Formats: sequence, structure tokens, C-alpha cells
Amino acid sequence: MPSFVIAEKCDGCKGGDKTACMYICPNDLMVLDPNAMKAYNQEPDQCWECFSCVKICPTQAIEVRGYSDFVPLGSSIMPMMGTEDVMWTCKFRNGLIKRFKFPIRTTAEGAANAYPDLQGKDLDSGLLSTEEADGYAIPTPIATV
Ligand code: SF4
Ligand code: SF4
Repeated sequence: MPSFVIAEKCDGCKGGDKTACMYICPNDLMVLDPNAMKAYNQEPDQCWECFSCVKICPTQAIEVRGYSDFVPLGSSIMPMMGTEDVMWTCKFRNGLIKRFKFPIRTTAEGAANAYPDLQGKDLDSGLLSTEEADGYAIPTPIATV
């Protein structure tokens, strides 16, 4: 189920051009109604259900209903981000509440790079990144029409 905003909880990130959910959505789905100062998902059928907006919302105003392999049907799941972990609160349909805490990556934003040795390499090179790193010979280019 796509993301939806609980209007009573949304404060529009207290103004500004871009709210947290607008900033984080990889598919640019979240928009802010400037009159009501409430965000909403403008195209729910395009939602990837990635939970990014759910996790970043400072007022926990966004929900995505998890599939049954993730949380049981009829329950709800809400993350609370900390500096070193994320706490998921799962509320089951019989009222039972369980919390699960997991560590999160603490790499600074923009600092993650799985291949630091390849930074700054020629992106137009005919070599694959692994070939360049290992110093293999340049492969014969495929003829183009
Ligand atoms: Fe509203 Fe949360 Fe989006 Fe901010 S991040 S605009 S509080 S839904
Ligand atoms: Fe965008 Fe992901 Fe939120 Fe869907 S769940 S609106 S794709 S950030």
C-alpha cells in the first residue's frame, strides 16, 4: 500500500520550499498543499513503498502499510529514527505492540563510496570499472552503425 499522510500529524515541516518528505522521495511523489500546509502523495500508484518518507518525517505523519510477509495483516508499522539505530513499532490488530531496534549506517551523507579507488576515473573509457582497476587491456570496441 502506498504512503499516505495523516493530516492531523503533518505540520508541513513548518514551512519552507521543500519538506523532508519531498526532499527524500526517490520518485518525487510528495507535494505540499500550500494552503493547508499538509503534504500528500500526488501519485500513489507510483509509490515504491520504500519507507524513506516514513522514516524521515519528523512528526511521524506518514504511514505505509506493510505487506503480510513484513508485518501481519491489519497491523501498522512505524519507524523512529535515532542517531545510531531505528526503532520499529509494530501494532498488531489485537492491540499488541512490539518494538524492534536495529542499528543503522552512520556514514555521513554523501560519503559512502563502495569503490573509492575509482573516484575520478574516466567515465567515457571503454573499460569496465573492474577492468580499469586491474589494468586489463582495452577491449576492441564493437562497431557502431
Ligand atoms: Fe508533513 Fe512529515 Fe512531510 Fe513534513 S515530512 S511535510 S511533517 S508529512
Ligand atoms: Fe516516495 Fe518511498 Fe514515500 Fe513512496 S514510500 S512516497 S516512493 S519516499
